[in-house]
Amino acid sequence: MLDKLSDVLVLGAGPAGAATALFLARAGYDVALLDRATFPRDKPCGEYLTPGAVQLLRDEIGVLPELLALGARRLERETVVPHSARSFSGPTEALACPRLVTDNVLLDTVQAAGVRVTEGFAARKIIREGGKICGVTGTNAQGEQQTHRARVVVGADGTHSLAAREMGVVRPIPRLQRIALVTHYAAFGTDVGGSVTMHLPRDRSDACCGVGASCGPDGTQNVNIVVPLSEAKQMAGRRQEYFEQRLKSSFPQVWEQVSGLAPVGPLHSVGCFGHYTKRATDDGVVLVGDAATFIHPFTGEGVFFALRGAQLAAQAIDESFQRSDFSRHSLRRYDAARRTELLSRYRLCDAVQHVVHSPALLAWASERLRRSASLTEILLQTIGDRMRPADLFSLSNLRLALSTL
Ligand SMILES: Cc1cc2nc3c(=O)[nH]c(=O)nc-3n(C[C@H](O)[C@H](O)[C@H](O)COP(=O)(O)OP(=O)(O)OC[C@H]3O[C@@H](n4cnc5c(N)ncnc54)[C@H](O)[C@@H]3O)c2cc1C
Repeated sequence: MLDKLSDVLVLGAGPAGAATALFLARAGYDVALLDRATFPRDKPCGEYLTPGAVQLLRDEIGVLPELLALGARRLERETVVPHSARSFSGPTEALACPRLVTDNVLLDTVQAAGVRVTEGFAARKIIREGGKICGVTGTNAQGEQQTHRARVVVGADGTHSLAAREMGVVRPIPRLQRIALVTHYAAFGTDVGGSVTMHLPRDRSDACCGVGASCGPDGTQNVNIVVPLSEAKQMAGRRQEYFEQRLKSSFPQVWEQVSGLAPVGPLHSVGCFGHYTKRATDDGVVLVGDAATFIHPFTGEGVFFALRGAQLAAQAIDESFQRSDFSRHSLRRYDAARRTELLSRYRLCDAVQHVVHSPALLAWASERLRRSASLTEILLQTIGDRMRPADLFSLSNLRLALSTL
């Protein structure tokens, strides 16, 4: 069979791949997008979209009205319930939206923009010729082997990215090797006014639990827990039982609300393996979204990172086409843009993890945040991707923080 050739080949049709394909198709490029899944496909996730992600979906991608029409829920409050200290909360302009809806709407938009989408294509091997990455081989939905080639390949194939492994740039973060269990329940009433809550375990064990607002066509609520990888053995063959026991022992306030309810749909488990990449470019290739970096999902910024990363990647790829130069040297502007725009956000995410893993520090910080609504709002705006992390340390914010002592 003849090889298929395009300007840009995007591997992975999650938010990172779909958005990169969309921006490049709108810029006039011939783009092919491949995914092994058949859409609509689910993706285990907290299904929270930060205010920054909402802004990109509205202003840059243009799908917000459609998401709202399909059941995305505007959130009004975000709450953190620390181990045994009192909770704090603040206003937000985030959304809750099932991934089944978000990712499918993005893919429809991509197709309408003229991208050639192939679902059911599992990439098996990245093709490298003369040192440059120039395509992939794999099997299509009919089980036939196919080769797709392009001037630039975008690796948007998630946390276990084939492209990132081929580049040899993946650096695991050992303390972020975890397992997530995600399910849905019929609305159970904690989301009055539209609220998302992050719980830390009462027993101070190493875990967290997210409870979403009711949203989507069936109005269900997302409940997810993230636990250390070392607990994988305990859940083997008895995931549902393990999930319920863990809620009961570590998150009794959540268990109280869902104990009488039957889960709606399956309980998904997924490896939640933190990693970063030494660089996200090589000759002929860029990495976007989880393929480039995956940090703990506690702050719920993964989709924002995917969409903003897609925008930065599309700009760098467009410039490489202007120069007809697809070498790493030419594409590395994307690495620089990621450093400027995203690195400080990844670091803040990581700093939040350090605080969360120190119950005493978290209790102290929670009390300061409870005393100052303005400080809470500033922090939520920052981890909500609407303010730059550097702004947290402005003189006025430091004064505000000192006033809570
Ligand atoms: C438990 C949990 C909770 C989370 N909660 C949130 C949250 O509330 N808010 C938030 O913003 N983020 C959250 N995240 C993170 C978020 O899910 C990811 O950051 C986001 O999905 C990244 O998008 P992506 O496009 O890079 O990857 P993905 O969405 O994973 O898409 C990758 C795509 O690549 C395809 N693919 C992979 N390998 C191949 C192959 N070999 N051939 C063909 N196709 C392939 C897959 O089928 C998939 O469709 C959470 C993550 C976890 C694990």
